[in-house]
Amino acid sequence: MVEIKLSEMRDLTRIERIGAHSHIRGLGLDSALEARSSSEGMVGQTSARKAAGVIVKMVQEGKIAGRAVLLAGQPGTGKTAIAMGMAKSLGQETPFAMLAGSELFSLEMSKTEALMQAFRKSIGVRIKEETEMIEGEVVEIQIDRPAVAGAASKTGKLTLKTTEMETVYDLGAKMIEALGKEKVHSGDVIAIDKASGKITKLGRSFSRSRDYDAMGPQTKFVQCPDGELQKRKEVVHCVTLHEIDVINSRTQGFLALFTGDTGEIRAEVRDQIDTKVAEWRDEGKAEIIPGVLFIDEVHMLDIECFSFLNRALENDMAPILVVATNRGITSIRGTNYRSPHGIPIDFLDRLLIISTQPYTWDDIRKILDIRCQEEDVEMSEEAKVFLTKVGEDISLRYAINLITSSALACLKRKGTIVELEDVKRVYELFYDVKRSTQYLMEYQNQYMFSEVPAGEGYED
Ligand code: ATP
Repeated sequence: MVEIKLSEMRDLTRIERIGAHSHIRGLGLDSALEARSSSEGMVGQTSARKAAGVIVKMVQEGKIAGRAVLLAGQPGTGKTAIAMGMAKSLGQETPFAMLAGSELFSLEMSKTEALMQAFRKSIGVRIKEETEMIEGEVVEIQIDRPAVAGAASKTGKLTLKTTEMETVYDLGAKMIEALGKEKVHSGDVIAIDKASGKITKLGRSFSRSRDYDAMGPQTKFVQCPDGELQKRKEVVHCVTLHEIDVINSRTQGFLALFTGDTGEIRAEVRDQIDTKVAEWRDEGKAEIIPGVLFIDEVHMLDIECFSFLNRALENDMAPILVVATNRGITSIRGTNYRSPHGIPIDFLDRLLIISTQPYTWDDIRKILDIRCQEEDVEMSEEAKVFLTKVGEDISLRYAINLITSSALACLKRKGTIVELEDVKRVYELFYDVKRSTQYLMEYQNQYMFSEVPAGEGYED
């Protein structure tokens, strides 16, 4: 029988850095799901954002499972940004997993296992647990100090006055530690979770003069008002199926979640977990939350992966699958066939397609303004106009990349506002793809493995 060790789950606090999409805080839609021209870090791309909003709404209402959406558009038109916006608007509780198609081929496990793990990372289980709580006032704390010093060897007893009786607890080393940290004194009103032994301080009803340090050897009886006996409390845990899989499949348990070294998970373990979760669902103890799985660069998947996805979407616990690509008609990896976006026709047939459009001058300007704010860079109007032109003529991503480097150039000359000269300097220092290719064509003979025949080259 699978033992689900939920108490081992821990939240990871991520260190936020300024990344390519850190300015995106949602999809920027109003209550009628219309896209605001600039909101939550999102600019333009109104119909794609609205369509993404409709999907988010359906996910939140738990109405659909196993649907797939394709975000298709030219490079740099905000496909990943929209997926990030969806993740943010879904909120903390709805699982969102992200994966780039190319990652599947570099992991130390089979492609289908990596896809299966990604699927299960995007399926949440909300588990309700009833724990018994004892609430009352501390009337007596006794700590015996054994001959061997050290917290772990301490034993003790804590007496709680509750409505109907005096409850006596033997304290283990762990509890003593908790008491020490929490500084529980005689007279404190505390609650003990019987399942985990966790002590929570609820307040005080007596003056400091009557305090007794929990770690002291004193014994003190105090009168107390009535507390409440054995309150029942509902605790809700939200975990993903993948987390449950990992905890139950490795000897190191939940630690594998931190190291990422999960390895392949046996099908029997997954089957047992699915049966257990289904039981909990029937008993009303658990609820399935289908989340979102985002696969970027979907054209990198091969025919085996697509057939896996076809099958996985049939499962009634399946999440919403959002895939993105910037490819047109290209060959399907692993075959000699060509198809739109490099996606087999049978899989394409399942997809709702959202297309992203190239940005206008105004959109690019607004996105650059937001990025300057995000990166805390002050830039002159002249420099911004130049950068917008770069964004329009070359690429939005290249223009965004120039912000940080021009701020450094500005810092070097001890300036505070990034001027046109700074942007031009880095523009000349760092090549965009077009200039780099031109340079390569001119000097290709001086590079190793130069195989392009003279006269042929990069076409715009
Ligand atoms: P590719 O096809 O090359 O993967 P993409 O369509 O996924 O490109 P993004 O990576 O989303 O493009 O966009 C490039 C940059 O522009 C990112 O930093 C992104 O956050 C920003 N960006 C794109 N669209 C928007 C938008 N509508 N609002 C705000 N920022 C955006």
